[in-house]
Amino acid sequence: MPRNQQQSRQPPGPAPPPPRIVPSRETLTARRERTTAITQRLAEHYPDAQCSLRFTNPFELLIATILSAQCTDKRVNLVTPALFRRWPTPEKMATASLPELEKAVQTTGFFRAKAKNIHGCCRGLVDRFGGIVPATLTELVSLPGVGRKTANVVLGCAFGLAEGVVVDTHVGRISRRLGLTKATDAVQAERDLIKVVPREHWIAISHWLIEHGRGTCLARRPRCEGCSLAELCPRVGLARPRTGSK
Ligand code: SF4
Repeated sequence: MPRNQQQSRQPPGPAPPPPRIVPSRETLTARRERTTAITQRLAEHYPDAQCSLRFTNPFELLIATILSAQCTDKRVNLVTPALFRRWPTPEKMATASLPELEKAVQTTGFFRAKAKNIHGCCRGLVDRFGGIVPATLTELVSLPGVGRKTANVVLGCAFGLAEGVVVDTHVGRISRRLGLTKATDAVQAERDLIKVVPREHWIAISHWLIEHGRGTCLARRPRCEGCSLAELCPRVGLARPRTGSK
């Protein structure tokens, strides 16, 4: 082979980085398409993802979700078996004294506020809904201590109703990094997600993102290099990896 030809042949360099996604310039249609691709990957990656709170009926899930605020699901699952053995129905839990309830939920943190909310919630269930957990968002959020997130958890996981998207700390953080929302407020983030996530995935996407947040897209050190969403993620708020080009 002539010398000059040998010199012109360059060794193969590193693969070029994936095209940069700029969420602010992305059309809604393009974002929907990207979100569909994201949901497909997440579904493949986390086929068994589900609610990690243990419950046997809507009432237990409602109480467990109230307890899960600022607390891990694991910790809640340690507390609820004894709680539901002692007070298995809204009627029975509504008769518990506040100090008794506080003691029973103490290890989940913010126990005074949680006990008060649980007590008020059970009273509301007994007085207004015949002791039955209602299956609508409006009725659920009318109960003390029940916000949109808790209501969406109960509707999605206990009743299989996709009325909204559960936005917890993992879902909010990853959605912002993925450029699906800019909101730090959970209600606005949910509105943004509803615009782009196909409705059939409204329940599952929270479970998928929570799993993803626990194992890959960690709060402090996201593992972007091994992430199954890497080519679909603009990594908003994170430093871009160095590519060696200007
Ligand atoms: S590429 Fe990084 S920032 Fe984006 S979802 Fe994956 S781990 Fe999170």
